[in-house]
Amino acid sequence: MAKQKKFCPRCGKSADSGDSYCIKCGHSFTGRRKSSSSKTIIIALIVILVLWIGIRLYLKQPIIPEGLIETIKNIFAKKAG
Ligand SMILES: [Zn+2]
Repeated sequence: MAKQKKFCPRCGKSADSGDSYCIKCGHSFTGRRKSSSSKTIIIALIVILVLWIGIRLYLKQPIIPEGLIETIKNIFAKKAG
């Protein structure tokens, strides 16, 4: 009895019907991995933020550069005005 085959919609690689994702490109056949990918982005942002704060503290510099504060102030000043 031959195994049933399906094809990856993204790259066209054949896959067993029992596979939940493509072995070539990693494309999910179940479509349930979208929420986990957004979680990954949030975790990545938190990691970047923590690293950023750590580096700034290590360099004994303000966490937010003064130039950035001025830019944000200007944006809010324009919105308010
Ligand atoms: Zn694929």
